[in-house]
Amino acid sequence: MSLWKKEFCPFCGAKIGLLNYRNQEGIAVCPTCFAKADLDIESFKLLDIETLSQCYEKRRQDLELFQQFRVTNEVKIGVFKGYYIREDANLGVWYVSNSKKPTNPTLFRHEELAHFELLEDGNSVASGGLARAAVGGVLFGGVGAVVGAVTGSKTSKKVITSLEVAIVLNTPYRKKISISCMGVDSKVKSGSMAYNQHMKEAHDLMMFLHGIKARASAPTNTNAASSPSSAADELLKFKNLLDMGAITKDEYQAKKKQLLGI
Ligand SMILES: [Zn+2]
Repeated sequence: MSLWKKEFCPFCGAKIGLLNYRNQEGIAVCPTCFAKADLDIESFKLLDIETLSQCYEKRRQDLELFQQFRVTNEVKIGVFKGYYIREDANLGVWYVSNSKKPTNPTLFRHEELAHFELLEDGNSVASGGLARAAVGGVLFGGVGAVVGAVTGSKTSKKVITSLEVAIVLNTPYRKKISISCMGVDSKVKSGSMAYNQHMKEAHDLMMFLHGIKARASAPTNTNAASSPSSAADELLKFKNLLDMGAITKDEYQAKKKQLLGI
């Protein structure tokens, strides 16, 4: 890089300094414009300037659409520097933000969720969204699958250093979102209270994504076998949650009464 060759951001015209972001064409964008695109670095690098321009146009549309956004479903991950994942089922869009009150989050349509995976120390322990086959993990079919995978490793008290939900997207801009469910912890023992809390949040997020996936396929797959689970199936899920320590006995009893209508 030559010091005398001045470069300017193609979007705002600002002089390119030491902190800049280069795309696959080698064109540098200023930090402000990079932030405006709301992309992770990996996704950004893959884009040419033309596609990046379309991304900014999409962001403007998102800003308008966001004025109509009413939360119908929400998951919060972590306490400090957490994630807010929210859906407006009526608009058919959802977003992931680090801000409790975002002003212009990137809105994803339901069908832009390709698939998702729960990774414990990089190993897939549960996944969802794939048509029939799970890659290297348990096909996520509800609470049971996640809990089953978790309780399977209960006997060995190992130390976990990462617990992450990887969301693969089907958009021209952003390809992936990784959500750490470890909160402020850098390591936890499997089976510990902290671990169970993180796992519960991860599970809630998986359920959230599962719901989005279900709603994405609902209009086109009306003839597909998607029978709602029976009260017994539901009860089993909550029994698993109870065993795992994610819910209390009282919560379980309340759910049981509700499900069985007693
Ligand atoms: Zn710029």
